[in-house]
Amino acid sequence: MPGLCPTCMHAKEMRNDRGSLFLLCVRSKTDPLYPKYPRLPVLQCEGFEELPCPKKITATEPSSTS
Ligand code: SF4
Repeated sequence: MPGLCPTCMHAKEMRNDRGSLFLLCVRSKTDPLYPKYPRLPVLQCEGFEELPCPKKITATEPSSTS
């Protein structure tokens, strides 16, 4: 899912009954300028605000206790 929405704090993942994944723009609830379901990829958006803490990937090395 490329573009800005996946890293935007105003995006919310929604899944329908058939398991398809949609991205809801929460800004659309208060501002009609934003579509409820943005057509992806959104490459430019004035409402974009990056998630303050993107998912951290913590890799752990296998311990070598021998
Ligand atoms: S504000 Fe813009 S970038 Fe953020 S979820 Fe809505 S459409 Fe996507």
